[in-house]
Amino acid sequence: MRLRNIPGARETLAENDFVLQDPAQYKGSFHTLFGNSNPIHIEIGMGKGRFITELARLHPDINYLGMEKYSSVLIRALDKIKENPPSNLYFLRMDAEDIAEIFAPNEVDRIYLNFSDPWPKDRHAKRRLTSSQFLERYDKILTADGQVIFKTDNRPLFDFSLEEIEKSGWILDSKTYDLHHSEYMEGNVMTEYEEKFSAQGNPIHQMTAHRIK
Ligand code: SAH
Repeated sequence: MRLRNIPGARETLAENDFVLQDPAQYKGSFHTLFGNSNPIHIEIGMGKGRFITELARLHPDINYLGMEKYSSVLIRALDKIKENPPSNLYFLRMDAEDIAEIFAPNEVDRIYLNFSDPWPKDRHAKRRLTSSQFLERYDKILTADGQVIFKTDNRPLFDFSLEEIEKSGWILDSKTYDLHHSEYMEGNVMTEYEEKFSAQGNPIHQMTAHRIK
């Protein structure tokens, strides 16, 4: 998601207490940032942040980190929390490619990927957030039973992701091609893209997977 460039977006983020300026300094000690030892769940490519903000409000006993590459998008997420910021939520403006430099082994309990960019050209496959290259990075930081939960309406990307999961030696815990009419719908929190695409009649696919350590 790329919005029109917002003048001053980067500067606004640099001054904001809810955006971690130098996240690598917390590597291995994110619990001190949150001031508790609750599990850490992250969303990569959170866009305007509705999903993670709502989860943070629903689950005060879980710590959330939302990661987004673009300042112009992240700034919309900040708007959602400025009135009443949850103490269990921070944002990071960074490319997920560097994720293993930010978190120590076993530091992350769950990774959410929602409506990730499809990168349809074969030569860009390794940029997809469910590629074997990214799964390898996630493997470095997830706890032993830590999960990746992925939602999309893009069937080719979903099929690719299922193949990568198998190829990379991960275990598929669940999958559905129509989340909104499935048993996994309970507790589902809709993302901005999910609302838009399901309103257009697109079924939403979801998979959950973990890596045997
Ligand atoms: N999760 C949101 C937005 C989906 S669009 C929703 O479901 O509504 C995908 C988002 O991922 C975009 O905002 C894009 O900027 C971000 N993104 C894509 N690649 C990324 C990467 N490598 N690191 C961090 N964010 C990324």
